[in-house]
Amino acid sequence: MSSSSSRTRYRIIGALGAIVVIAGLVLLSSRDARRSVELVAVEAIGEAALARMGESEGNDRAADFINTPIEVRKLGENIWQATGVANTHLISTEEGNVLFDTGLSLQVPKQKRALEQAAPDRPLTHIIVSHSHADHSGGVKFWADEGSEIVAHEEFAEEQRYLEELQPYLHHRNRTLFPFIPEDPPKIGLIAYGGIKPTKLVRNGEPYRFVLGGVRFEVIAAPGAEGADNLVLWLPDEKILFSGDFFGPLFPQFPNIFTMRGEKIRKPIEYIQSLNRIVALEPEMIVPSHKDPIEGRERILADMIKMRDAVQYVHDATVAGMNAGRTVHQLMAEISLPPALALSQAHGRVSWGVRSIWEYYATWFHFDTTTELYAVPAVAIYGDLVKLAGVEGLVKHARSYVDAGKPVHALHLLDIALEVGNDRAALEARRDALKMLLDEAEATTRTSYEMDWLLHRLRITAERLAEDGAA
Ligand SMILES: [Zn+2]
Repeated sequence: MSSSSSRTRYRIIGALGAIVVIAGLVLLSSRDARRSVELVAVEAIGEAALARMGESEGNDRAADFINTPIEVRKLGENIWQATGVANTHLISTEEGNVLFDTGLSLQVPKQKRALEQAAPDRPLTHIIVSHSHADHSGGVKFWADEGSEIVAHEEFAEEQRYLEELQPYLHHRNRTLFPFIPEDPPKIGLIAYGGIKPTKLVRNGEPYRFVLGGVRFEVIAAPGAEGADNLVLWLPDEKILFSGDFFGPLFPQFPNIFTMRGEKIRKPIEYIQSLNRIVALEPEMIVPSHKDPIEGRERILADMIKMRDAVQYVHDATVAGMNAGRTVHQLMAEISLPPALALSQAHGRVSWGVRSIWEYYATWFHFDTTTELYAVPAVAIYGDLVKLAGVEGLVKHARSYVDAGKPVHALHLLDIALEVGNDRAALEARRDALKMLLDEAEATTRTSYEMDWLLHRLRITAERLAEDGAA
């Protein structure tokens, strides 16, 4: 453990101590006083936790993201953005202020202060939450005023429910991919996930339109990209679209119609329909809730059409392959985007999209083998294979696959060889096969989830090698 890690740990303990003291005061205070005390406490926790996460040893991409500075940008006459891990947006009108997305709870105190300094002090009439993920909904409880309308998609409550019920499972998976996040999900009420009760629901195909201080707002349901409960905000007079996570962290890109983190499968056709709704608006600026705004009507339109056509292409090719009797693995290997539709796969990967579409329509039974139907996986007989083939023979063969540039073939054999225990040559071959995949990913698609997974497997392999060395 580095000294800075232990330093941040002490800061966390200090912050927690402060909260206990503050907790007593909170019981006695008025709503406003209570909120300012809460913000001070959360700011202290946030500073410590984010400093620790920002170290992100061995993962510069993650460190860059977490260390995004909190600054206010003016995006229009009366439009401000507070940057951070996730952005918060404030649109001010003479009759009140409207918020779009509320950021990560740990960053709310700073983002809120920054926006309040930049924008006119008016009652907050609407808080629009793009979707239920914690980095967008985390600040609602710190912003909401007595009369604020909390606007969310009609599926918000259901998405929030399953994300909350599966929190231990999802947190474990997130932590596997992102080992710098805290060991446990936050349990302190103020920053714990969930508990948001929307007061205004937006249904698919029925935009919620309102005018405030002469400014027109349209909240539009856009399910299919980052879950079933996506909303976008359209300002028709300014031609600005606040897209939440609809486009993900990159624009343009092949969308994440599957997420390795382990959320519900996303519907490809719903995504295309949502994108068609957005294309029809012809935005001149897109303001995503992560990273920077994108400007230019022509460019935005061309890129959106390309994204839509790419997903349609992959969808149609998958369906055609299913009808032609191709297996899911054949289709994962065969389907790629034609050059005219080539897009970044840094977030969503085409072959995983193929598999997601396949399983969206056909679910988990691939009709390949009988054993798929029963609770006895192939790993149950790996020990038998080791007895029959011998670890040495398996590893030798795996090594020849590594040498032949077939790392996945090698990993299949090494999973078998390593099932019965540590073997130095097997672990070294696995390390080399994983490195080969990581180098390949870095040189080609740069799919972040793939690279995070491979780094995780490399860490485990290094740990087992160290154990083996000590034995
Ligand atoms: Zn997000």
